[in-house]
Amino acid sequence: MARRGRRLWRVASIAELFIHELTRGIGDTDIRAGIIKVATGAHGVSAYERTVLEAAAIASRETGAPITTHTDDGRFGDEQQLILTDAGVPAHRIIIGHSCGTSDHAYHMRILERGSYLGFDRFGVLVVQDDEVRVKSLLALLAAGKESQLVVSHDSVWCWRGEPIPDTHDPGVAAMFSIWTPTHFFERIIPKLKAGGATDVQITRLLEENPRRFFAE
Ligand SMILES: [Zn+2]
Repeated sequence: MARRGRRLWRVASIAELFIHELTRGIGDTDIRAGIIKVATGAHGVSAYERTVLEAAAIASRETGAPITTHTDDGRFGDEQQLILTDAGVPAHRIIIGHSCGTSDHAYHMRILERGSYLGFDRFGVLVVQDDEVRVKSLLALLAAGKESQLVVSHDSVWCWRGEPIPDTHDPGVAAMFSIWTPTHFFERIIPKLKAGGATDVQITRLLEENPRRFFAE
C-alpha cells in the first residue's frame, strides 16, 4: 500500500511539473510548452517510464496538450499507446515518435488502426536507420491509405547548446551531419517519395494538414 501511495504521489508530482510548463512556463520563464514528450528505451517500458507516461496522460487530459513519444529502434510504441489511452488520452492526440526506426509494417499498422499518428521523424539520422528504409516503409503506409496519420521530421535542430556533438572528424559522422538538417526532407526525401509513387496531395497531408489537425484538435 505504501509503495502504491508513493507511486501515485510520484505520478502526481511529475504531472504537476508538466502542467506548470504547459500553462505557466518552463523554469522561471513565461515560455509555455505546446506539447508533451515522453520516452521509453529499447528493452521494454520500465516502471519509471510508465510513471512518466501516466503523468503525461494526466497533464494532457487536464490541459488538452498533445503528446509525442520517443521510441528506441521503433519498438514498444504500441505499449506506449496502450498506457496513454488506458489513462484516458484520446488516441488521435498521440504521435508515436521515431517509428521510422523499424520497417515492421504490421507494427506500424497496429498503432495506426488504434487511431494514433506515427512520427517518421528522424530523416537524416543515418546512425540508427538508413533513409532508404524509412522511405520504403513510409511508401508502404501511403499505399495502405494511411496518409492522414503520418507526420514527418528530422529530430534535428539548428543550434546545439553545451557539449558539441562528438567526433565530426569521423567521416561517417561528418557525412551524416552534412545532411542531418531541418531542410533534408524537402531537399532529398520528397524527391524519393515522388519517385516511389507518392502524390502531391499525399505530401501536402504529411507536411501541412496532419500537423495542423494534430495541434488543433
Ligand atoms: Zn527522441
